[in-house]
Amino acid sequence: MDFEIAPEYQEMRETTRRFVADVLRPAEKIVEEKQFIDKEMHRELVSEAKRYGVWNAFVPEEWGGSGITDLLPRTLIREELGATSYVLRSYVDNGVFNLDDATEYQREKYFLPALEGEKRSFVGITEPGAGSDNGAMKTTARKEGDEWILNGTKHFISGVDTSDFGIVYAMSDTTKGKHGGISAFIVEKGMPGFTVGPRQVMMGHRGFNQSVLYFDDCRVPAENMLGGSGGGLRQFLTMIVGARMKVAAEALGAAQYAWDLGVAYAHQREVLGTRLIDKQGIQWMLVDAMIALQGARLLAYEGSWKADQGKDIRVEASMAKLQCTEVAFKVIDTALQIHGGAGYTEDLPLARLLRDIRGARIYEGANELQRYVISKALWGVGQ
Ligand SMILES: Cc1cc2nc3c(=O)[nH]c(=O)nc-3n(C[C@H](O)[C@H](O)[C@H](O)COP(=O)(O)OP(=O)(O)OC[C@H]3O[C@@H](n4cnc5c(N)ncnc54)[C@H](O)[C@@H]3O)c2cc1C
Repeated sequence: MDFEIAPEYQEMRETTRRFVADVLRPAEKIVEEKQFIDKEMHRELVSEAKRYGVWNAFVPEEWGGSGITDLLPRTLIREELGATSYVLRSYVDNGVFNLDDATEYQREKYFLPALEGEKRSFVGITEPGAGSDNGAMKTTARKEGDEWILNGTKHFISGVDTSDFGIVYAMSDTTKGKHGGISAFIVEKGMPGFTVGPRQVMMGHRGFNQSVLYFDDCRVPAENMLGGSGGGLRQFLTMIVGARMKVAAEALGAAQYAWDLGVAYAHQREVLGTRLIDKQGIQWMLVDAMIALQGARLLAYEGSWKADQGKDIRVEASMAKLQCTEVAFKVIDTALQIHGGAGYTEDLPLARLLRDIRGARIYEGANELQRYVISKALWGVGQ
C-alpha cells in the first residue's frame, strides 16, 4: 500500500483546511446559538465554498464538480471538514446524490439545482417503529393513476427545516416487504398531504435540526419515484456504505482537532508548579489518544483504498464507522478533561464536539448494528 498522498489531493486537503479555518470556524458559534441557517447565510456559505474551490469537490466532472470520486482522497478531505460543526460542513459536502438512478427530469428539477446550491434536501427513512431495522417500515405507497399515495410517519429526519425536497422511502409492495418492496420517492415540501411535524430537540448537531414528518394521503407524481419500483432498499444500502465512511472520516477530523487543542493547552497550563505536558499522567493520556486515533485512521484509509480497488467494503465501512466514532468520542473526552473547567464551557468547541460525536455513534446505523453487519458477513448469523 502506498501511503503517499497525490499532490492534487494534498492541495485540496490544504484548501479545505483553510476554508474551514477562515469561513466555517467563525460561523460555528453563530449557528450554535441561532440553531438555524437562514437563506442569507446559506447563500454566503455556498458562494464562499465556490470562491475557495471546495464546492462540489466530490461531484463527477460531468455534473459540474471537481471529480474527486475516489474514496481515499474523499476521506482525507472529509477529515478536514470533520473539524467543524455538522451543519456547516453539510453546506459544502451535501451528501451524495443518487444521480445514476435519477431520470433526466429528476436531475434537472431537483438534483442539479441542489448541486448548484440553490436547493437543499433531506433523507427520510427512519420511523418510530423502524430505526436499525429499516425493513420494518410502516410507511406505504400505493399507486393511483399517475400518482403514488404515501401514508405514514418518519422521525429524526435531519435538515427538513432548510430543505426544499427529500428522498422518502416507503413500502410500495407489502407482499415483497423489504426484499424488493421498498421504493424511494422525491417528495417536495408543500406537496398535498405532507406535513412537517414538531422539531425533535437533540443533544447536539445544533442548526442541523431533526423533525417528525407526516404523510397523510400525500400525493406524489409517479415521475418522482427514484430508481424504479422496489429498488429503494438496494439504493439505500449502496448509499449507506459511503455514508458510513463519511462519518468515519469526519469523526477522525473532530478527534484530531480536539487532540491538537489538548496538546496546545497542556503546553501552556501550569498546575502545581509545572505545565500539564510535563506530567506523565497527561503525557500518557495524550499518547494513548494519539495511538487510538491513528489505529482508527488506518482502518478508514484501508477501507477507502480497498473501495478504490473496486472491492466490496461493506464490512470495512462498518468497522471504520464504529471504530472512528468510538475512538473520537474518547479522544474528545480526553481533550475536554485536560482543559478542566474551561473544557466544559461553551467558550471552547470541546463541549460541542463531544455532543456532536455522541450522535455519530447512533446515526448511519448504531455502532451495535455495525457489529451485527460484521458478524453477519463473517459467520452468516446475527440478529
Ligand atoms: C442526530 C441524528 C440525525 C439523524 N438523521 C436522520 C436522517 O436524516 N434521516 C433518517 O432517516 N434518520 C435519521 N436519524 C435516525 C437514525 O438513523 C436512527 O436513530 C438509527 O438508525 C437508530 O435507530 P433507532 O433510533 O430507532 O434505534 P433502535 O433501532 O431502536 O436501536 C436502539 C439501540 O439498540 C441497539 N441495537 C440496534 N441493533 C442492534 C443489534 N442488531 N444488536 C444489538 N443491539 C442493537 C443499539 O444500541 C441502538 O442504539 C438520525 C438520528 C440522529 C441521532
